[in-house]
Amino acid sequence: RAKVEANENCQVFDGRMHDHAMRRMLLESSLRTALDNQEFVMHYQPIVELVSGEKRGYEALIRWNRKGEGIVPPDEFIPLAEETGLIVPMGYWALERACLDFGRLCAPNSHELSLSVNISGKQFRDPEIYSRVKSILRQTGMPAERLRLEITESMLMQDPENVSRILSRLKNLGIKISVDDFGTGYSSLSYLSRFPIDVLKIDKAFVAPLEQSSPTAVRLVQTIITLGNSLGLEVVAEGVESSKHVSRLTSLGCSLGQGYLFARPASLADSGC
Ligand code: C2E
Ligand code: MG
Ligand code: MG
Ligand code: MG
Repeated sequence: RAKVEANENCQVFDGRMHDHAMRRMLLESSLRTALDNQEFVMHYQPIVELVSGEKRGYEALIRWNRKGEGIVPPDEFIPLAEETGLIVPMGYWALERACLDFGRLCAPNSHELSLSVNISGKQFRDPEIYSRVKSILRQTGMPAERLRLEITESMLMQDPENVSRILSRLKNLGIKISVDDFGTGYSSLSYLSRFPIDVLKIDKAFVAPLEQSSPTAVRLVQTIITLGNSLGLEVVAEGVESSKHVSRLTSLGCSLGQGYLFARPASLADSGC
């Protein structure tokens, strides 16, 4: 009897495995052709001065317009793209596309804007990253000092010696480095000061609880802002969704942010360009 049950469990397991594996294989194979078929699009979300709402820059966010499926959000394909290594060519495509679009994004604005582009862990460790970024800057005419590469706080923590070396080389190109999702990676003050970084982006998980004005939430955000300011970094809040968020953040000394209150990420055409 025990043997029969074990056998049945095994079949159920096999069936689910099979289902999961099939879906994954399909996703992977359509992801592989998506780049050639030009199914990716870049959306842009403004980074603004919180008080005035004036644009200071844009963050580029990739979208997959999957044939027959509609828009797939990045959280549903970036992890698989990381696993398969596809993130590397996809990431360079995204960087190049955003640099090409930058002129049109800037055209309606009087201020000088920045452009932020996300870089994944695997792309960051690609031995060609320096030369690829350099040639994309040259080919697109993107002014280096206006480009910010966003890497996550947790990426800093893996192999810090190597990360420092790559960051220093990239910074030689004149570009800036933002630390994305800050507060979720548990890096210490001394740690952070070892890296040549320019911007801290407060993760939206810390901004959302400001709505309830819990003293703990306020103290946490205060600590991040003080940390950023004391290291001479620009501090940008993510996930700004309400005027309560704006008043809290500005009273805590954070003057820049991005979020649905100001604008959702949108295609170039829908960004007023
Ligand atoms: P991220 O870089 O932290 O980007 C911010 C995310 O917050 C975006 O999600 C954005 O749409 C969302 N967001 C903006 N304002 C608000 C708000 O007010 N409330 C809330 N709840 N969310 C807001 P999205 O576009 O789905 O991207 C998710 C993640 O996927 C990004 O997080 C980034 O890690 C990754 N990603 C996106 N594009 C690229 C890319 O081109 N390359 C790489 N490597 N990763 C990318
Ligand atoms: Mg980002
Ligand atoms: Mg983020
Ligand atoms: Mg994120």
